[in-house]
Amino acid sequence: MSYDFKALAGVYKEFLRDVIAIETPSENKAQIDKLVTCIKDFAEKRGFETERIPFEKAGDYLILRRGKGSKKPVMFMAHLDTVHPVGSFGENTARVDGDIIYGPGASDCKGGIATSMMIMEALSETAGFDRPTLLLLTSDEEISCRLSGERGKNTIIETAKTACAVFNGEPGWSDRFVTARKGVMGLKLKIHGVAAHAGNGYFNGASAVREAAYKIIDIESLSSKEGCTFNCSLLRGGTSGNSVPDYCEFSVDVRGLTLKALDGAFEAVGKIAENARVTGTTCELCLLSRRPPMEETAGSLDLLSKINEAAEKLGQNEYAPYLSAGGSDACYTTMAGVPTVCCCGPFGSYQHSVRESVDTSSLAPRAELLFETSLLL
Ligand SMILES: [Zn+2]
Repeated sequence: MSYDFKALAGVYKEFLRDVIAIETPSENKAQIDKLVTCIKDFAEKRGFETERIPFEKAGDYLILRRGKGSKKPVMFMAHLDTVHPVGSFGENTARVDGDIIYGPGASDCKGGIATSMMIMEALSETAGFDRPTLLLLTSDEEISCRLSGERGKNTIIETAKTACAVFNGEPGWSDRFVTARKGVMGLKLKIHGVAAHAGNGYFNGASAVREAAYKIIDIESLSSKEGCTFNCSLLRGGTSGNSVPDYCEFSVDVRGLTLKALDGAFEAVGKIAENARVTGTTCELCLLSRRPPMEETAGSLDLLSKINEAAEKLGQNEYAPYLSAGGSDACYTTMAGVPTVCCCGPFGSYQHSVRESVDTSSLAPRAELLFETSLLL
């Protein structure tokens, strides 16, 4: 059998342009809610059932459902938010040039919304396919669910628990799918010292900036290719050039493969925070955010082997499993114990930059690949 994905891609290319035109920075609830309304209206016209999940601070979440069946649903997932403030893309927010559409979130992750809906339409029209399908759209993936909080994370986990498999629509690659992701932890160190005149009082002061310098060297030295990485940034300290600085702060971005590794990293940074090299300084360690890793599971690798079975049937190349150092909401569906493969969306370029684009010629082949894979579930 063969479904006409090319014709459907034409419809969804237009939809995608409309969706990209709405700028949706994670913290701008009004803009995200506007996008939710736009997708909800389009989806209802095309026969999807919709469920809007309101949030107070975060943009609303949206669930689209389609199809019937006695078996567990196939779940798709994507996020609505983007990283640049409104206005960053100029007046012509979504720009079409042949197959390419440029604009905020073109491939990260709006392209994944389009392919997911295409697959759901095709599956619902396939005789004998005995599973419903659903698409969960989250609103603050780019800031690790900071605004939707525990309720947001639980919505992802509880929705995933109903499903047999999850395809996450982050931007795709031509030769791989992501089956594991590092966890990310955001820390801040606040160092307090003793201010003094840089001339007459120099030896009476305790420099918070000097202490930060020692700590930064110690913390970054913990990084290893096999273990965690520690990136110190956003260093700010001192109030004038001729005073010994009494305050300094900096952030640390920690990435690790397992929860255990992140726990160990937190403990190691804690020891460095406690140990003052400049007498008279003290340090506070603050945990700002923490997104668990997407740990590789047998179920996820098995799902990838089904993708490869479908790829072979369609004459597409083989896809390798890939470990990404960036986080995504796929960590929560993996935590829920459901086989998950990430980066299932169409191809694109320059994500998180004002040159971001999506290649709409990849909508049909991507949708067809994951449609065929779903038939094997
Ligand atoms: Zn993304």
